[in-house]
Amino acid sequence: MKKTIIVAGNGFASLFFIMYFLDSPIFPFLAAPFRRLYSRYDIILIGNGSFIYFPAIPEFLTKKRNKKGITVDIRPFLWRRNIRFVEGQVVDLQDGGRTVVTDHGTYRNDALFLGIGPAFRKADIPGTAQYTYSPCYGPDDMDRFIEKLDALDSGVIYVGFTINKKDGFVAGRTGPMYECACLLDSALRTRGVRDRFEIHFFSPNRSPGDKGPLTDRLVERGIICDDGYSPAQFVEGGMIDPDGTFRKADLVLYSAAMTGPPLIAQSRCLPASVGGHIDVDRYGQVKGLRDVYAAGDCAAHEAPPPWVPHQAHMAQLRAQAAAQNMKAVLAKKSASHTYRHELSCILDMENDGLWMHISEDGRPPFKGIFPKRSRQLIRVKMLLEQIWLFYLRHL
Ligand SMILES: Cc1cc2nc3c(=O)[nH]c(=O)nc-3n(C[C@H](O)[C@H](O)[C@H](O)COP(=O)(O)OP(=O)(O)OC[C@H]3O[C@@H](n4cnc5c(N)ncnc54)[C@H](O)[C@@H]3O)c2cc1C
Repeated sequence: MKKTIIVAGNGFASLFFIMYFLDSPIFPFLAAPFRRLYSRYDIILIGNGSFIYFPAIPEFLTKKRNKKGITVDIRPFLWRRNIRFVEGQVVDLQDGGRTVVTDHGTYRNDALFLGIGPAFRKADIPGTAQYTYSPCYGPDDMDRFIEKLDALDSGVIYVGFTINKKDGFVAGRTGPMYECACLLDSALRTRGVRDRFEIHFFSPNRSPGDKGPLTDRLVERGIICDDGYSPAQFVEGGMIDPDGTFRKADLVLYSAAMTGPPLIAQSRCLPASVGGHIDVDRYGQVKGLRDVYAAGDCAAHEAPPPWVPHQAHMAQLRAQAAAQNMKAVLAKKSASHTYRHELSCILDMENDGLWMHISEDGRPPFKGIFPKRSRQLIRVKMLLEQIWLFYLRHL
């Protein structure tokens, strides 16, 4: 009997999971006819059908990217792989994960993979949902920010982030917010109005006097670092400081701390880590549940190094281990595949590029062939994006 595998979500973690789970990941159009005749698995993906390439959202600021260019309808990708698509949201898990309840019906499985992304702790600072914008909420929110920005001739703009560190790793978007601050500076310079704007960068996770390449990039662009600052409240036209003082801000681009998805609270069986993520072991197995795996931004790391972030790159490494372990366990072997912890991302600063990289084994990206700082890195970033989007659209 064929085993039924359910994949929840259609972001990086789920699509990488599918890539590593299938035997012919790169040339599925050759494998597709055979997969229709014979396949050991009946795979179902539950999601909204639209993949969004989040790392390109900061570049909306310089108008180099837009929503259409970074969105992929993943139905053809799934069809080529003989994967059944169910449009919907998972709203509950029952029977230890064997029954998946969606807003459009209930599905049974032999193994389940959850790649359902994070939630943002907007309630931590009152007014976050009403008075701030964020690249983290997707292309539409970023477009709304840019529309407001384009309507301003002068003003004060705050860009900032907060991290949830309760699980011992970086559950927050730091790199993209540095990128946004620098691209905002570029966009205003291109319009010839930079001298009429103040850009502030704030985070309670930065300490006064923090140094380093990211800080240097802010300072050399005249961006004011409000290190350690966190407002008590976001309000119309600004923020309220912890001492009650009003601080003017015409626009705020803010990434709230990240946590696990709402499904943890909705479901009857998903375990939560201290920081609110789905609690998984180093093999990607959800603790206490059989044949349920999770990877990507929805899941905590077990014993992480303190610098490891939620990233597409980490989602890939974790989804790979989860796919290998699921296959092994379904074949009655034990889970043995773990993953490397690695922070790796290229920051596009329009006239400059930085490759931020830390790995637990000290290995540089691509065997160290690329410089750590160069404007040419922006081309590398774009090439990586184009390869992935081409893979999703055509292979
Ligand atoms: C502005 C920005 C810039 C970034 N830059 C980089 C970068 O340069 N490099 C890098 O490596 N990473 C970067 N990241 C991080 C990266 O985008 C995330 O780590 C990555 O998207 C995580 O993938 P995921 O699949 O876990 O979650 P997501 O990409 O968020 O996907 C989650 C999926 O699950 C679906 N879903 C949610 N709930 C349910 C449900 N209940 N039922 C069914 N489906 C559900 C969603 O619709 C979505 O399809 C950036 C992120 C942002 C926001």
